[in-house]
Amino acid sequence: MMRFIILGSGPGIPVEDKNLSSIYVHTEELALLLDCGEGCSRKLLQLGLSGDHLDAVLISHYHPDHIAGLFMLLQMLYLENRRKALTVFVPEDPRFILDTMHRMYTFESKFAFDLQVKLITQAPLELPGISIAPTDHLQSYSPQIKALNVPNEMRSWAIRISGNHGDLVYSADINSTDCLEDLLDGAHSLIVDALHPNAGQILELHELGLHRVILNHGISPELAALLDSEPLPGFEIAQEDHEYQI
Ligand SMILES: [Zn+2]
Repeated sequence: MMRFIILGSGPGIPVEDKNLSSIYVHTEELALLLDCGEGCSRKLLQLGLSGDHLDAVLISHYHPDHIAGLFMLLQMLYLENRRKALTVFVPEDPRFILDTMHRMYTFESKFAFDLQVKLITQAPLELPGISIAPTDHLQSYSPQIKALNVPNEMRSWAIRISGNHGDLVYSADINSTDCLEDLLDGAHSLIVDALHPNAGQILELHELGLHRVILNHGISPELAALLDSEPLPGFEIAQEDHEYQI
C-alpha cells in the first residue's frame, strides 16, 4: 500500500492556517519527500519521519514556496547525525543547491551522510516506480531571465509515483493541465494545483476516471464557486496531516 501525507497545502502567499508545499510519500519501496516548502522539517519531526527515514527528496521547481525549506531540512539531518545517504533531485542546475548551502556555511563535508544533488531527470533511472513530465509553470519568466542574463532554465516538473494498488501524480504548479496528459494515463490519484489553471480545465479532469483529485496549493475563487454549486465525486480539498492511502 502507498501512503502519503500532505505536509503543506497552501499557495505561494503564506496563509495563517496552511503550510507551504511539501508532500511525504511512502511507497512499498521508498520514503520520499516531494518539495520542501518552509516548515517541512518541523512537520517531519512531528510525524517521526526525520533522521534516516527519507530515501530521497524531489523538488518540482525553484520557487521559494517549494524549495526554501530544503536548507533547514539538510541542517536538521546534519544535526541529527543522519547516516544514510540522501539524494536530492532538483529541477535544474544542481550547483545552485550546493552553492547556496556553502554561502550559508553549510558544508556537506561535515555531514555524517553522503549528500548527492542530481537533476530530476535522473530520478526515473535511479528510483523504482518514478516518472516525471515537464510542465509549463515557469515559461512566462523569459523576459526577466533575458533582461538579467541569468542562467535559469525555467524547468518545472510533475511527478508520478507507482504503487502496488495504483499510482499517484503530483502536478506541482502548472499553468494548464495539458502538460499532465500522458503522466495521468491510468493513474489512481492526483494532487493538483487548483489555484493557477483555468477552473474549467480542472473540472475536466473528472473525465479521466481518476479515483481522487486532491485540490492543492490553494484554490481559485472560480473553481471554489463551481464546486460549491456542483460538487464532483472524488474531488476534495487537500487536507494537511491526513494519511491518504492507495
Ligand atoms: Zn511555483
